[in-house]
Amino acid sequence: MDVKTEQTRQVQFVIKTSKLCNLRCRYCYEYLELGDRQAMTLDQLDTMYRHIASYYSRLDFKTEIQFVWHGGEPLLHSPDYYWQTFDRQQEIFGELASSVTNVVQTNLTTLNQERLNLLTEGFDGVGVSIDLFGGLRTRQTGNDSVVTVLKNIDRLIQNKIKFGCITVLTKASLPYLQEIFSFYEKMNVHFRLLPLFDGAFDGQHQGFEITPAEVLPALCDLVDMWMASQTTISIQPISEHIATIIRHYSPEVATYFYDKAEWESIYLVNVNGDVFSYGDGYDPNFCHGNLFTTPLEQIALSPVHRQVISRAEERMMTACSSCKYFGSCSGYPMAEEAIMTHQVDLEGNLQCIVTKGILEHIEMRLIQAGVIDPLTGRINDLDVIQSQIDRLRETSSPQADDAALSRI
Ligand code: SF4
Repeated sequence: MDVKTEQTRQVQFVIKTSKLCNLRCRYCYEYLELGDRQAMTLDQLDTMYRHIASYYSRLDFKTEIQFVWHGGEPLLHSPDYYWQTFDRQQEIFGELASSVTNVVQTNLTTLNQERLNLLTEGFDGVGVSIDLFGGLRTRQTGNDSVVTVLKNIDRLIQNKIKFGCITVLTKASLPYLQEIFSFYEKMNVHFRLLPLFDGAFDGQHQGFEITPAEVLPALCDLVDMWMASQTTISIQPISEHIATIIRHYSPEVATYFYDKAEWESIYLVNVNGDVFSYGDGYDPNFCHGNLFTTPLEQIALSPVHRQVISRAEERMMTACSSCKYFGSCSGYPMAEEAIMTHQVDLEGNLQCIVTKGILEHIEMRLIQAGVIDPLTGRINDLDVIQSQIDRLRETSSPQADDAALSRI
């Protein structure tokens, strides 16, 4: 057995290069800063790389480090900005460079040949933000951006660029769930259905706000659509929840628990270098430190980081310790996502409404399908479950030979 491989860990740095954006999506949590041209400089990025490289090079196991380039709209930067910083990254990470990848999350409205080259040869992955329905991803004029994005998706396909999509679930897109699923199924494109996060100001989401009690049945419907289909696309978070139930009924699989004190898997880095856990983004009370001025080692050991860890552990203790799925589910949803997705009951008590609800739904469906035997607590039909696992493992890039625009 390759011990090195077994011990490999992953970490993501979500890099807010600039908040500047050409769109004004109505739910954007950066809304008030979308006109701000301030950007991370190449020198600041160099310093950040040095601090990150120094921290991970001292560990006695391999770490895969991924930079997720985010905004605003990250492709508003000139492609040269990325080519230069990627060169510097290779130099600074040295021996670690082969473990470093770069992906970009884009609204895909500013594509030209230079940017297509960047997406083809510079980035290792591309995430496209598109809701397809609901009309909330608007330009400054108020016009919907969807037609432009669909045309540009076609250009990605023509250029054989791998991509996945993120669609935000709001009250405006909720009625189109079947159409959204069918679009991605026919296009053979992986996607994540992301519930609405808190906005940038009070009342921003008025008219399309969605509660956990509405998100849960929508995701359960999506589970049913996926199970009824023969598609091999991965739908997050559905695919990871199906994997959780498979683990839950696989006694030979070791339990695992999210241990934030032992390993941070995602850091959010703001334009000014401030570092946050994803769930506490931009709350000045929970800034771990600054990667433009401070070594990551110091940031990881900072009193604020310890406080953030304690808060996450408390959330897990409250919601997860009595949950039957704990150990198959790591508790990560309560530790890191509960605050921004409002996982509370009517009395305001923390409760795992969405994740636990979906897990129960998947479990029920697999029992109904005869895949799980509720009496033995084992998986009955290993062939069926293997095919489910194969589908989850499928990482096919888009194979669509049809135009995205014609799928709507
Ligand atoms: S389903 Fe929810 S409560 Fe249960 S372990 Fe996972 S995050 Fe915790």
